[in-house]
Amino acid sequence: MNCTKCKTKAVIDLPRHNAAFCQPCFTTYVHDQTAYAIKHARMFGPDDRILVAVSGGKDSLALWDILLKLGYKADALYVDLGIPGYSAKSREKVERFAEAIARPKGATLHTHTVQEEEGAGIKELSNLVHRPTCATCGTIKRYQFNKTAVDQDYDVMATGHNLDDEAARLLGNVLHWQEEYLDKQSPTLPASVEGFAKKVKPLYRLSERELAAYAVLNKIDYIVEECPMAKGSKMLLYKEALNRLETDSPGTKHRFYFGFLDKQERGATAPQSMADKDRASLHPCAACGQPTTGETCSYCKMMARASAAKS
Ligand code: SF4
Ligand code: ZN
Repeated sequence: MNCTKCKTKAVIDLPRHNAAFCQPCFTTYVHDQTAYAIKHARMFGPDDRILVAVSGGKDSLALWDILLKLGYKADALYVDLGIPGYSAKSREKVERFAEAIARPKGATLHTHTVQEEEGAGIKELSNLVHRPTCATCGTIKRYQFNKTAVDQDYDVMATGHNLDDEAARLLGNVLHWQEEYLDKQSPTLPASVEGFAKKVKPLYRLSERELAAYAVLNKIDYIVEECPMAKGSKMLLYKEALNRLETDSPGTKHRFYFGFLDKQERGATAPQSMADKDRASLHPCAACGQPTTGETCSYCKMMARASAAKS
């Protein structure tokens, strides 16, 4: 198998593109796909300051690496969830990457430690508020990433969601006809009101397999294990189903997700019109000032419940 571009020995084949690449051409392909995504979905420009949400996994570290190599001003935020046997390891991967790759390029790593800032690790916190661990985690991460982006004047917040993540999420939203989520499922979500950062997913054109290959070929040391709390999640089930379809018919995920984006671009429920709806229903949280539809935001409500349960 030879590289489609330069005809030397290929290291990876991409059946959905009917192509194969050697290492340098594959790295160029990943950079080009990301650069195209940034431009096509109007994510950010060369002078914007970007905050990357990093977890220690392949996608988020690959994203930070790619943005720095493309010449963007990209800092990162890591949220330490305090999960025994997992968080310490993922934090170490992030800190090592920051030290070796990001800092020499002038980038900064911000860290938020849930145990210190919210007063308990994610599992204890979810027990206190009687909510599933992943729901508690989602509320904290959404809140803290947005807060850091807004407080520290970043122009945009970037996450490492890839094609597999987005196709699985779309499948879940379609299976349950979650119309509101479908309207908001876009690679770029504008900052609808003051206090909400713009959110982008520059890796939406690349598959999980491609990003794992990019990380390995570019010597990015990432945490291979999934978060232990993800076990049995619906997302993993949807990914498995899509992988079976993909094996049988390469390009299924791509057609499914890109067909949706195509319809969304031409339709009336584009993210911009969602931004108008948001503007009408959001106002500052009475406790912290972040935008919310209720009197207080879900983070402040959750933290109030946690401190009531402790006392
Ligand atoms: Fe958080 Fe759940 Fe994801 Fe783990 S699996 S990082 S607890 S949302
Ligand atoms: Zn609040």
